[in-house]
Amino acid sequence: MIATDLRSGVEQLGEIIASASTIIPFTGAGISTECGIPDFRSPGGVWTRNRPIPYDEFVASRQARDEAWRRRFAMQTTFAQARPGRGHRALASLYRAGKIPAVITQNIDNLHQMSGFASDHVVELHGNTTYARCIGCGKSYELEWVKQRFDEDGGAPDCADCDEPVKTATISFGQAMPEDAMQRASGLAQHCDLFIAIGSSLVVWPAAGFPLMARNCGARLVIINREPTDQDDVADLVIRHDIGETLGPFVGN
Ligand code: NAD
Repeated sequence: MIATDLRSGVEQLGEIIASASTIIPFTGAGISTECGIPDFRSPGGVWTRNRPIPYDEFVASRQARDEAWRRRFAMQTTFAQARPGRGHRALASLYRAGKIPAVITQNIDNLHQMSGFASDHVVELHGNTTYARCIGCGKSYELEWVKQRFDEDGGAPDCADCDEPVKTATISFGQAMPEDAMQRASGLAQHCDLFIAIGSSLVVWPAAGFPLMARNCGARLVIINREPTDQDDVADLVIRHDIGETLGPFVGN
């Protein structure tokens, strides 16, 4: 059912949340747009400006790696200055209240952790852009280390231990999904009684399969997104309004 207006959407959501015992939120880029981080597919989104660099290209081409890091550094002020928005804070309140055991996110911005979720309770399907990793041995690097090497050597650095390329700790198109996160997300989706998809266009697979998985296992499904999604038809409640406006009333102490 599509909420007729914001007020009735918030009211219905409140009732559904109150009657749920285990809620799993599934978040996409839309929850972070009010924090100043553009999403991919809205007008002005990242993809209207830059073609994504697939994983194979990153691995094969030094130029692609240089370009990937140039783009990442260009976004550094945006990521570093972003603070959790009303959506993040509302979910953190429900987490503290014991209603939400963990959040599944497609986001790479670290804002759920900043809002108060323990790192162990943030299942990151697409990794995290606030640090880097060697694609060979998995060694972690601070972004400052990468930036310093980039500036000194004029290009993307390789791992100090094994010489393989260093990449943001994110999952690019064409890169294998993190097995552990996928397994944990499946378990959470299958054992909740309310699943809320927030700010996702639900077109990036396999991540977009989790709302359907939860629905098929008997959970109620709520979708909060200002644009229609392909899964609206199977949702119990669809709220096509701004996320901050919709979840703001659920921010508690
Ligand atoms: P998406 O860009 O495909 O979809 C975002 C959706 O959110 C859109 O449908 C848009 O209409 C909606 N939206 C944007 N702002 C909103 C608001 N304030 N209120 C209500 N709806 C709003 O994003 P996605 O589905 O997460 O998939 C894209 C991929 O991009 C993800 O896998 C993610 O890894 C990556 N990404 C992450 C970030 C981030 O970490 N903040 C930002 C951009 C892209």
